[in-house]
Amino acid sequence: MSILYRSDAPRAAAWASYFAEHAPELDFRVWPDAGNLDEVEYLIAWQAPAEFIAKLPRLKVFFSSGAGVDHVDFSAVPKHIPIVRMVEPGIIDGMVEYVSLAVLALHRDFFDYVAAKAARTWDPLEVPPASARTIGVMGMGSLGSAVLQRLANYGFRLRGWNRSLRHLDNVESFAGPDQLQHFLKGCDILICLVPLTSATKGILNRKLFSALPAGASLINVGRGPHLVDADLLEALDSGQLSRAILDVTDPEPLPAEHPFWAHPRVFLTPHVASMTQPESAAPILLDNLRRHQRGEALLNVIDRSRGY
Ligand code: NAP
Repeated sequence: MSILYRSDAPRAAAWASYFAEHAPELDFRVWPDAGNLDEVEYLIAWQAPAEFIAKLPRLKVFFSSGAGVDHVDFSAVPKHIPIVRMVEPGIIDGMVEYVSLAVLALHRDFFDYVAAKAARTWDPLEVPPASARTIGVMGMGSLGSAVLQRLANYGFRLRGWNRSLRHLDNVESFAGPDQLQHFLKGCDILICLVPLTSATKGILNRKLFSALPAGASLINVGRGPHLVDADLLEALDSGQLSRAILDVTDPEPLPAEHPFWAHPRVFLTPHVASMTQPESAAPILLDNLRRHQRGEALLNVIDRSRGY
């Protein structure tokens, strides 16, 4: 029984050594040393090109090596093969750290002080209490809910918006397109953590920005195509939005001539908010694989019709 790992090369050795130690009976292979592809039953990969999947006649499960699956061409994976997304503490912790950092940097005016230092200006700004700010999270899934729970520790007012209504302590919850405007009305800082689907592509657009309080900030840690770039630039230039922190762009890498690079109120990071950590992900994937071998239901199988 073979598992093939075809993902992030620098982390392959950590995956292989975990499997060698904890599941020595499994034949763990790392691309491109894939051996006979007819023997591969489990695939751990970021993408699934159709011509590659077609070469795996015994494939039983496709494990996405990342939390999102928007990059996977579902039509390339035969319908009887479950697609499993990555839910693991390392990704969650990374996202919670990044979003906490971004929210606190906005809340405590760090970007203003970076500019003030460059201008050698000593200009203290007022420090409002966290309870005076409302943070809104779009997408209350494994990442969004963990982010909300952590932000609660700082005392922010919190709201979450989700496809189906979800209740979390200390969070005012909203659901569905009908409640989106109402949700946005109170968000001083908006965080995008919905998956990229046909329903959410381009959701960060002019209409959404105009529903936010004037001077709100945006943190996009979802996917680049959630955002309509021109609408963000317009909202920043009109003052409707004060700042944007973008970890994801469309395309990636962002071309050098893109206006976001030079914009003084756009802060960019190169899709590093969180990453799958082999040390915490490998045990979870192995448990799930063993469930499958025992004939039990796999965890975190995506619903192809919803797109996530
Ligand atoms: P998840 O557990 O599947 O949660 C997604 C949440 O979004 C669910 O609660 C879902 O609602 C909600 N949702 C889906 N479609 C919606 C819609 N049309 N309107 C409102 N809410 C909607 O996913 P996750 O693990 O939290 O990850 C979320 C996304 O984060 C990923 O898809 C990926 O794009 C992004 N991500 C980014 C990075 C990075 O480094 N920047 C790293 C990891 C992940 P229901 O509860 O009703 O299903």
